[in-house]
Amino acid sequence: MQQTVLNPDFSFLEKAEAAGPFYAAQCFQCRKCTNGCPATFAMDLYPDQVIRLAILGQKDEVLRSKTIWVCASCETCTTRCPNGVRIAELMDYFKELAVRESIPSPEPQVLALHQAFLETVQYAGRVFEGGLVPLYTLRSGQMFSKIREGSWRDDLRMAWRLYKKDRLPLVPKVIEGKEEVRDLLRSS
Ligand code: SF4
Ligand code: SF4
Repeated sequence: MQQTVLNPDFSFLEKAEAAGPFYAAQCFQCRKCTNGCPATFAMDLYPDQVIRLAILGQKDEVLRSKTIWVCASCETCTTRCPNGVRIAELMDYFKELAVRESIPSPEPQVLALHQAFLETVQYAGRVFEGGLVPLYTLRSGQMFSKIREGSWRDDLRMAWRLYKKDRLPLVPKVIEGKEEVRDLLRSS
């Protein structure tokens, strides 16, 4: 039988906890997080496995996993955890770390949405849906295929309906503390 060598990098979780804390070391593998997670069908690692691998210093497996990108930040896991492990926040941290270390996302569409979302938040201090949608379409590479296939017309009709219901503002509502939000995002 072939043996797997783990080569743990224990500084991985130490650095994460310094940026948190996320209390990952308190996990006793009960799997309550995984059993309540609505996104496991699309994950390659279950949330409890991500925590376990992080504890075991398996940086590469964690940062290259689909799971950190598929996670919807719904916080169900964090709410269910009996040990106060901040799982959803830790997933977010791993996402940011993967971006900072230029690790390619196995879910490029999610990465495009993530970056477009943060760009609008950096600009206005809060999400600006009117900018998010075109930015995402451009970043995800869907812009040209939509033009080619003509599906941009459906998008435009949908945007008009949302605009009429006041759900798609064309001008961003910039908050007073946008500089603080910007600094927060830069330092994270
Ligand atoms: S619910 Fe908490 S303690 Fe249980 S496996 Fe998940 S992270 Fe670990
Ligand atoms: S925050 Fe992410 S990992 Fe936690 S339950 Fe929601 S989708 Fe699953």
